[in-house]
Amino acid sequence: MKRISFLGLGLMGAAMARRLLDHGFELTVWNRNAGRADALIEAGARLAKTPAEAARGADAVIAMLADDDASRAVWLGASGALPALDRGALAIDSSTLTVGWARELHAQAAARGVSCLDAPVTGSKPQAEQGALRFLVGGDAAVLERAKPLLAAMGREQVHVGPAGSGALLKLINNFMCGVQLASLGEAIAMAQRSGLDVRRTADVLAAGSPGSPIVKMIVERMVARDYTPNFLVPLMVKDLTYAMEAFAAEGIELADAHAARQRFIEAAAAGFQDKDIASVVEPLRLD
Ligand code: NAP
Repeated sequence: MKRISFLGLGLMGAAMARRLLDHGFELTVWNRNAGRADALIEAGARLAKTPAEAARGADAVIAMLADDDASRAVWLGASGALPALDRGALAIDSSTLTVGWARELHAQAAARGVSCLDAPVTGSKPQAEQGALRFLVGGDAAVLERAKPLLAAMGREQVHVGPAGSGALLKLINNFMCGVQLASLGEAIAMAQRSGLDVRRTADVLAAGSPGSPIVKMIVERMVARDYTPNFLVPLMVKDLTYAMEAFAAEGIELADAHAARQRFIEAAAAGFQDKDIASVVEPLRLD
């Protein structure tokens, strides 16, 4: 596990790839918009022109991409990575994906003699920068064992959830819980602001009391400061809640609250916050 290729250098991918470089892996990177690779190239990574070029001769390829469409295009589209991997190499997708696509990726990899893990992460940009992510891993335990040195460079924990697709599923359950809490928090802070309560004091009480989950504690500060510097973009939460609703519906659970929360994030995107942090979900609800 020496020659590693990283596909997708967004907010998360760039920070994760940097950790691999800092841990001495021989790193090749690819991103659709190649300009995003500049800092990593300067730090010693090699730039590939296509996902296939990145995959050729690699021991492992890790993808960190927006959604199912991006992941499918990068693994299996024109100049895709999967057909270019050697037999016995390792394909890891850490994007937040549907269970269906994660399972299909495993099957496509197996058909080519490539090992595969769905390994989405909890934690955001700061945790990616600090190597403190938690990987939720679906796939064979023996494959995870091989991947551990690699994942340990980017995260502090690897949870083996179960077979193919189970990492993807647990990630959707996780982000469903995050999404509904943040939409509710936005409504609560907007209510305080509209009704003339002190927003700072309201935030302190909510964070210190029963509603104060780790994500509420973190995001309420951004809402109070109205600082929407991107850590987790609004459209990605719309995507995660959409995928979660599909997964739950397949088991007969209709996620009415995720549906309502998703609407709040859609409203934030429509109000001009599509390139901003998820904390901006409060903005369309505020009066000032
Ligand atoms: P991001 O900053 O928006 O980056 C998205 C990446 O996907 C970019 O490299 C982008 O390339 C690429 N991409 C999008 N569409 C593509 C396509 N059709 N073909 C090829 N590449 C495409 O997102 P992020 O925050 O890094 O998130 C990446 C993944 O991790 C997502 O699945 C997200 O849900 C998940 N996640 C995010 C966080 C977080 O806190 N941010 C936490 C946990 C999990 P370009 O640069 O060319 O646009």
